[in-house]
Order: sequence, then C-alpha cells, then structure tokens
Amino acid sequence: MENTLSIIKPDAVAKNVIGKIVDRFESNGLKIAAMKKVQLSQADAEAFYAVHASRPFFGDLVKFMISGPVVIMVLQGENALAKNRELMGATNPKEATKGTIRADFAESIDANAVHGSDSLENAENEINFFFAQREIL
Ligand code: ADP
Ligand code: MG
Repeated sequence: MENTLSIIKPDAVAKNVIGKIVDRFESNGLKIAAMKKVQLSQADAEAFYAVHASRPFFGDLVKFMISGPVVIMVLQGENALAKNRELMGATNPKEATKGTIRADFAESIDANAVHGSDSLENAENEINFFFAQREIL
C-alpha cells in the first residue's frame, strides 16, 4: 500500500468538477484516505512549493494556488503515486494524453487542475504538511 498527496487546484474547484476528479481516482482503484477543502495562505503555498522557489514561475504559481479554495487528498493504493501521475497527465494540459484529468479539465500550464506528489519521499513530506496521522484512514 502506498500513500500519495493530491490537490484539486483552484481552477478545477471553481469549475465545480471536484466530484468528477474524485471519481477518476476511485474508478481506478485508489482510495480517498483523507480529504479536506482549504483556502491556502500565501505562507502555506510558499512553504508547500518551496522546491520551486527559484523557478521563474514561482510567484505566479503561489498567486494561483491562493486564488481560491483547494481540495487536498491522500490517495491510497497499490502504486498510488505512479497511478495518480498517470491519471493526472502531463504538466502542460496541451501535452497531456487524452482521457487524463489535465487533458479533460485543465486550460493551461498554470491552471492545470491537479497536483500530485512526484516521489515517495516528497509524498510523505507533503502528506505530513497537511494532515495529522489520525486524519488518514
Ligand atoms: P507537476 O505539477 O506536473 O508535478 P511541476 O512539479 O514541474 O509539475 O511544477 C509544479 C507546478 O508549477 C505545475 O503543476 C504548474 O502549475 C506550475 N508550472 C510548472 N512549470 C511551469 C511553467 N513552465 N510555467 C508556468 N507554470 C509552471
Ligand atoms: Mg511536481
């Protein structure tokens, strides 16, 4: 069993497609082990994306992530991390494979509908950033 972090970003929450995105996970064998809707603060977003702090898009990324509420989940299952990345599709929705979440629900590389952890080490850190152990079931 593997745990990974997923975030439904402000663009997808605003589009009212939380349920449709959650269905992609559940229909593909992933369990929702934890879930909450949160308005991130600037400090939250900067800390969460600290690995990207030196990238030119960091400021815009933080601004976008605090532009509205997000839904944060722990996805659980066999190969949950890789499965989630596959379901998400490429970072740029224009390059994302047909049928992936980003191809179907995202507009641009900035507003790209979902976040997913990219390594097991980062997944653990990201999960601990947002959830207490008793919230992960
Ligand atoms: P992913 O979300 O697919 O793991 P990254 O970790 O590389 O992608 O980047 C984190 C987020 O930063 C992306 O989801 C996207 O919203 C934003 N981002 C990445 N690259 C760019 C870029 N070249 N221009 C604007 N935003 C970007
Ligand atoms: Mg990433």
